[in-house]
Amino acid sequence: MKHAAAPTASASLIRREVAGLPRYDPGADPAEVAALSRSSRIIKLSNNESPFGISPAVAEAIRLGLADGVSRYPDPTGRRLAEAIGTSLDVPAERVVLGNGSENILELLCQAVLDPGDLVVTQAPGFSLHETFPRVMGARVEKVPVTGEFGFDAEAWSTALAAGPKLVFLANPCNPTGAVLSTGQLEHVLAATPASALLVLDEAYGEFARLDPEYPDALEALRGQDRPWIVLRTFSKAYGLAGVRVGYGVASDPTLVQALDRVRTPYNVNHPAQEAAIAALGDHAHLADTVRRTALEISRVTGRLEQAGLRVVPSSTNFLFIDTGRPSDRVAHELHRAGIIVKAWREPGYETYIRASLSTPEDNDVFIRSLTAICVKDKP
Ligand SMILES: *Cc1c(COP(=O)(O)O)cnc(C)c1O
Repeated sequence: MKHAAAPTASASLIRREVAGLPRYDPGADPAEVAALSRSSRIIKLSNNESPFGISPAVAEAIRLGLADGVSRYPDPTGRRLAEAIGTSLDVPAERVVLGNGSENILELLCQAVLDPGDLVVTQAPGFSLHETFPRVMGARVEKVPVTGEFGFDAEAWSTALAAGPKLVFLANPCNPTGAVLSTGQLEHVLAATPASALLVLDEAYGEFARLDPEYPDALEALRGQDRPWIVLRTFSKAYGLAGVRVGYGVASDPTLVQALDRVRTPYNVNHPAQEAAIAALGDHAHLADTVRRTALEISRVTGRLEQAGLRVVPSSTNFLFIDTGRPSDRVAHELHRAGIIVKAWREPGYETYIRASLSTPEDNDVFIRSLTAICVKDKP
């Protein structure tokens, strides 16, 4: 028989900030959905992963990375990967920081700069970790709402930034809306952000957005700025490497990278992940193919859903934010029965929205059929 201590034994140890945190919502568990589904195949559209996977060159790099010996610790500096990233972006490697996913870097930034009571500004609706990690440190988080048309509210951002945040988290494109901040809007943010604040641009979907002529070249816009900033990117989305966990940041100066180096766990990026990322960075054809096929599906599926009368936010990413016009939990549950997993949105004001990442054309057709059937069947 297993003996467990009473839950109160540890409850008194937990910091107040931590006890009050929401749990991260990864979306429904595929095994559970499979058990209640009438479909034999699960279509997972809940985590913005790539349906096009990795190229043979990257698969080979992972295989060799494993064969090299997982008994040794990885290079704690990730030197070869940092240099490859630096070369590809024309920045010195000493301004590149690597993370166990870019989420890891979000966390390190909060640990390195936030004191209890500090102010963090981010967007709503938004990425939950942009709020969770600051709250772990006891910071206050101010969320600036998007406009009714899911656009950037310049005036609201000016007001929030004038309150003197220590840290600003801005995802471009935005998760969950898929909308892009234009070059002009980024310039507005730069002008309104106090030089004492650290500006974090989270470009997790930047590879997709670069097809959009409105999408700014942030590194170019930030180059001459006399302020601290960092641009975050990841191999999890367009590069199809979510499972190996590797992301990176390009910072304004080496001092910021050195601060993150001091707080991070020394071997945060494993060896096969470093090798995979180096190979992926060199495989331009696979990235271009993924981005092109994704854009075709985004525009096709958006059109089909709009034809069916659903409101879909124009997206420059690999996912769609869709107003189902009914409680999103219920829609997600009905989709589960068809073997489809999406993310039911729960932020106030968006409880009728789902976020669905796109997959192959065949899977997307199943999604379109199932979603439109649900939304027609029980018209509110
Ligand atoms: C997916 C995502 C990330 C990072 O994911 P990692 O897998 O940790 O690199 C970061 N920011 C946003 C907005 C995301 O959607």
